[in-house]
Amino acid sequence: MKNGSAAAVSTSNVVPNDLNAFWMPFTANRQFKKTPRMFVAARDMHYTTSDGRQVLDGTAGLWCCNAGHARPKIVEAIARQAAELDYAPAFQMGHPKAFELANRLVDITPDGLDHVLFTNSGSESVETALKLALAFHKIKGEGSRTRLIGRERAYHGVNFGGISVGGIVTNRKMFGTLLAGVDHMPHTHNLAKNAFSKGPPEYGTELADELERIVTLHDASTIAAVIVEPVAGSTGVLIPPPGYLKRLREITKKHGILLIFDEVITGYGRLGTPFGADYFDVVPDIMVTAKGLTNGVVPMGAVMVSAEIHDAFMNGPEHVIEFFHGYTYSGNPIASAAGLATLETYKEEGLLTRGAELAPKFQEALHSLKGLPHVIDIRNIGLVGAIELEPIAGQPTKRAFSAFLKAFEQGLLIRTTGDIIALSPPLIISESQIDEIVTKLAGILKTLE
Ligand code: PLP
Repeated sequence: MKNGSAAAVSTSNVVPNDLNAFWMPFTANRQFKKTPRMFVAARDMHYTTSDGRQVLDGTAGLWCCNAGHARPKIVEAIARQAAELDYAPAFQMGHPKAFELANRLVDITPDGLDHVLFTNSGSESVETALKLALAFHKIKGEGSRTRLIGRERAYHGVNFGGISVGGIVTNRKMFGTLLAGVDHMPHTHNLAKNAFSKGPPEYGTELADELERIVTLHDASTIAAVIVEPVAGSTGVLIPPPGYLKRLREITKKHGILLIFDEVITGYGRLGTPFGADYFDVVPDIMVTAKGLTNGVVPMGAVMVSAEIHDAFMNGPEHVIEFFHGYTYSGNPIASAAGLATLETYKEEGLLTRGAELAPKFQEALHSLKGLPHVIDIRNIGLVGAIELEPIAGQPTKRAFSAFLKAFEQGLLIRTTGDIIALSPPLIISESQIDEIVTKLAGILKTLE
């Protein structure tokens, strides 16, 4: 495992004096621009800041750099591909690497998911999946199936379909009526019953039956698909109880509703299995991925679908486009090369299952924080975990954000959402680096207001 020295910093990476023009995503822009936090290089488990400090990556970037940073195989593959075939038209033309990557993905996805559509992000993968579900039913002569069912506290990216089936009020409330005909199931997170669970919590399997209630309300003949994250990541690592996803699978199958797993975070080894579907032993009809597909290095997403869905589209005259959807960069050569090199790196280093080996150590380390000030819950699965803090009255998010700033000062990158600290380190992390994360966090938690 490489956890080595500081990355080389190029002199072209000088921080500009004027930071005004870039309107940053999901960032408190005014606060940031007063006291900017800049990375200028990265290698393996560490970032280098613009003032030359090393920061341990406790979040795999944004849940995506599963093999760590600047991995030689990926860097070389991108450079080689850029020199050889930089771009090829994505519509009505092909290039070998996109087909090869689709084949390699089918090799590692659960049996039954045999076809792959490429996108450029998790948000686009979600839209692709939702559109596929609607079109599938229409093609099958069930055009009345137009409803989409999501969950409260779900994050499915930022496009209109994704925020409609998503369950985060701040991401929804400014954008009008969103998609029509969407309903939401409850999430399974329950602090009163499940706090400090190790792995999947006990309570809540029966919440899957809320789907039956929604079916009774709307009738199955109006419902196209249910979309869930196997583990909701962005809203604070909400882990389903055993049997919950299996129950959703049974109910969706019974009613002819497609089940979509959004595996943008849970995919590519995060739970200690290649996908969340493997961890929970449930095969959805459509699986949405991105992030770890290219180790976060080049934007790319992939949507895996069942043969049943794919074959339903392959019926008309052969010269006619089967699915009117796609992007200029779908299966882009450089992204495909990055994806192939990433999957090779995962395979060579056993990273898709390394999370399972490290999970007991990660669990023990994380739960050692129980009892520290403000800690009201700790939860974990594979190599992802969360520490929930009691919010300061009248000032939600402030306490966790303060922990984030202190961690950055002390050389540790964590992610916060609301008053929850989320950890999802690269899967190459060493046991001593897990200890380092927890030791730093313990110190920080003791100093929080
Ligand atoms: N779906 C899930 C479950 C995610 O966690 C994310 C991003 O964190 C997305 C979709 C959106 O991905 P992107 O930011 O690449 O559009």
